[in-house]
Amino acid sequence: MPRARRIGVFGGAFDPPHLAHRALLETALQELKLDTLHVVPTGDAWHKPRQLLDAARRLAMVQLAFGDIPKICVDSREITRAGPSYTIDTLRQIVAEEPGAELFLIMGADQAAALTSWHEWQAIVQLAIINVATRAHSSNTTDLFEAERLFPERFLHLGLPALHVSATQIRSNIANGQPVQTLVSEPVARYIADHHLYQSH
Ligand code: ATP
Repeated sequence: MPRARRIGVFGGAFDPPHLAHRALLETALQELKLDTLHVVPTGDAWHKPRQLLDAARRLAMVQLAFGDIPKICVDSREITRAGPSYTIDTLRQIVAEEPGAELFLIMGADQAAALTSWHEWQAIVQLAIINVATRAHSSNTTDLFEAERLFPERFLHLGLPALHVSATQIRSNIANGQPVQTLVSEPVARYIADHHLYQSH
């Protein structure tokens, strides 16, 4: 019997995509031995309190940030789908496209801590193994997450060191005229500068 295909899914606002996202993708590809890893920019992010940059420009930056990594599939389905971007809908579509595949959902500890507030979260945990990366400053680096306490066999932790990078910090640096070269890849830095993005709070 051939082994089941191993499909990773990594969603986010990517406003903008940064070097910690890239390190997380590379770690997940390697540790989980994935055949494909879908990077899925969110459309209407129901759980983000602020207005995101328009989806077309976030998608363009995701392509610049990660498009060169083998096995990465930049996946625009949540941007083109009407209504809120629910992860469960994305996972169900991928399962339908890849019958018999094993799904691995990848996220930082901040998202894992909030997982029980996600739409149909228990169905998410049944469909995909949840792979968590430590997040610098997260209060949840050692405690089990609520969802993990309930379904411990469905959780894995990725061996990524805590990286002090966030999109919030990058937007703030740009608005304050501070450099971002160590936080985003060079093509993303150039795109941000060329399009005058994030210049005001
Ligand atoms: P913001 O600061 O605007 O909230 P962000 O830096 O958290 O953005 P997102 O696009 O919201 O970036 O994150 C996408 C995914 O990447 C989430 O699962 C998030 O937890 C994870 N992530 C982002 N930055 C890191 C990091 N430094 N370490 C580990 N995981 C991260």
